Amino acid sequence: MMEQSVLQISGIGEKMQESLEDMGIYTIGDFLFYFPFRYEDFEVKPLTELAHEEKATIEGEVVGEPLLTFYGKKKSRLTFTVQVEQFAVKAVMFNRAFAKKQLISGETVTLTGKWDQHRMQITVSQFKKGKMKKEADIQPVYSLKGDVKLNLFRKWMSNAVKEFGEHVPEILPPAYLDTYKLPERGNALETMHFPKNKKMLKHAKRRFIYEEFLLFQLKMQLLRKMKREATTGNAIQYNQQAVRAFVESLPFQLTGAQNKSLQEIMKDMTSPYRMNRLLQGDVGSGKTAVAAIALYASVTAGKQGSLMVPTEILAEQHYESLQELFGDHVQVVLLTGSVKGKKRKEILHQVETKEADIVVGTHALIQQEVHFSDLGLAIVDEQHRFGVNQRRSLRDKGLFPDVLFMTATPIPRTLAITAFGDMDVSVIDEMPAGRKEVETYWVKDHMLDRVLTFIEKEVESGHQAYVISPLIEESDKLDIQNAVDVYHQLQHYFEGNIRVGLMHGRLTAEEKEDVMKQYADNEVQVLVSTTVVEVGVNVPNATIMLIYDAERFGLSQLHQLRGRVGRGSEQSYCILLADPKNDVGKERMRIMTETSNGFELSEQDLQLRGPGDFFGSKQSGVPEFKVADMVHDYRALETARQDAQHIIEEGLLERDPSFQQLYDMLQEDPVLKGQVLD
Ligand code: ADP
Ligand code: MG
Repeated sequence: MMEQSVLQISGIGEKMQESLEDMGIYTIGDFLFYFPFRYEDFEVKPLTELAHEEKATIEGEVVGEPLLTFYGKKKSRLTFTVQVEQFAVKAVMFNRAFAKKQLISGETVTLTGKWDQHRMQITVSQFKKGKMKKEADIQPVYSLKGDVKLNLFRKWMSNAVKEFGEHVPEILPPAYLDTYKLPERGNALETMHFPKNKKMLKHAKRRFIYEEFLLFQLKMQLLRKMKREATTGNAIQYNQQAVRAFVESLPFQLTGAQNKSLQEIMKDMTSPYRMNRLLQGDVGSGKTAVAAIALYASVTAGKQGSLMVPTEILAEQHYESLQELFGDHVQVVLLTGSVKGKKRKEILHQVETKEADIVVGTHALIQQEVHFSDLGLAIVDEQHRFGVNQRRSLRDKGLFPDVLFMTATPIPRTLAITAFGDMDVSVIDEMPAGRKEVETYWVKDHMLDRVLTFIEKEVESGHQAYVISPLIEESDKLDIQNAVDVYHQLQHYFEGNIRVGLMHGRLTAEEKEDVMKQYADNEVQVLVSTTVVEVGVNVPNATIMLIYDAERFGLSQLHQLRGRVGRGSEQSYCILLADPKNDVGKERMRIMTETSNGFELSEQDLQLRGPGDFFGSKQSGVPEFKVADMVHDYRALETARQDAQHIIEEGLLERDPSFQQLYDMLQEDPVLKGQVLD
């Protein structure tokens, strides 16, 4: 029934079909589930509670005779007085001369319109004889396209609910409706369109929020289960003794959080499932150390491992630190775009013959020409920078490598369980002991001189500074221009006493490497850069991070940048240069100066910016819900997640008849149907 054409609904003709299709409405079901995006609320309030210039509804008695005046061509104005409480309110109505007869002195009317607090006057857009119904009148407002007008759409909806409402199937088991006190689906649907009162509307919404979240969570968890069952991973057997010795040889003791994550990872690696895990942790929390141990374990099991990172600079840094950590036991090679010619051939050969145990590289790693002999573990650093296709082809390189994604962008729990619902997640939420917190200051633009003096002093005592130039979204070119400008400005300011370097995305790989090397060797003391230094780069001698126009960056990004300093034993500073125009901007600066915990920041960022912005527009992966809001309805999301887990674990979908409708619905889901294993 729900699958039949929308034309079956009384009043909807072929003329309107195209506009409806533009709105994504094809079937009766689509139409019925096209919910209002907001409601107009005609609640009568006392005059003292009305807001100036806002829409209001008042109720009162007409006093005296209305005055009707005509002006211009066919234009009219009707003015009258109504007695509301103890006040005489003036009412004005335009171009509705016919209403004069209905406004009878001594009778009650209900008026809706724009309220003018100072003049005690209402400009009426709707009026009704008599009192308001007892309950407030709540009208649905839909987002419409083409020729479809609101009143018409409401009429159709009223028809649709009458004609087909009773055929809307319940999909939740009765026990769930009971437990959560949720209204039945058909009734809730009618309430969504034609709410009798606020309380009922609230419950109807609550029902659909839960329904949306439950379906979503079931889908994610089914996907995860299907992926697991459809792929045999390699249950590796690593050399426990060797791994333990390696861990003991590290110059530090693992933190509790590192240990816990490591155990979760090792459990996946030794199980016959293919690992699909996300390792989250703040910059410097020791993810790379954990990754190195996992790679080492993989090698002791006779497998190859790979570590893929987003930039060449980072690849080189990781390459060097892994070589240092592993010593001679493990053969590590580097494969990036700038490894060319004979050297490249040699490395490709080593990868293919398993002479190389570990390959570190950029996305060059996943090109056609690279053939692993026996890839057991693939690690992807800063995974949000890689697209799904790249991940997929990486996995296709080996037989069924275990895959570990690492990210230093702490993802709020809310988002982690939605966007990454089909992954397992490990979290390193503890910093190694003895780290000095980076001191963060917010200063106004006019204080730049003092900041530069401070940088001069720090450089005199042997330290270095990063300077991040203003970010221009959507324009690489302006971004770079800004960096060049700041570079010249600082060169001029420091008059050759301090060497200034410049780094941006348009430099060639060699140029970048050159600049980074000079900076790492302290030949350059101040490095001006666009946000390309954001990820991973490690120069422990740098103690200052100065960020121009800091209000333009998201909290998480600022936090990433801040993570570039504070990597050595010296006290480090992050200076945010900003004159934010609005309260949100000021709030962001304040939060940055007060919070050093990345997870806390990411939660706040999510609250301030909303989920769409969180990952940037390109790669959002954040699902869209009709009624639910991930941030606002977080508790329902958590409940739904637990319920979904229980349902899947107990196999209730297949086993329990009260889940039949849910089961059918999920089986029709295009994502689950066309499940492609990536
Ligand atoms: P991440 O990859 O999360 O940014 P790293 O693994 O690169 O962090 O670690 C940052 C620095 O801290 C490195 O110099 C590393 O050697 C050191 N480190 C890692 N784990 C610990 C620990 N448990 N105790 C002390 N230092 C550690
Ligand atoms: Mg790292």
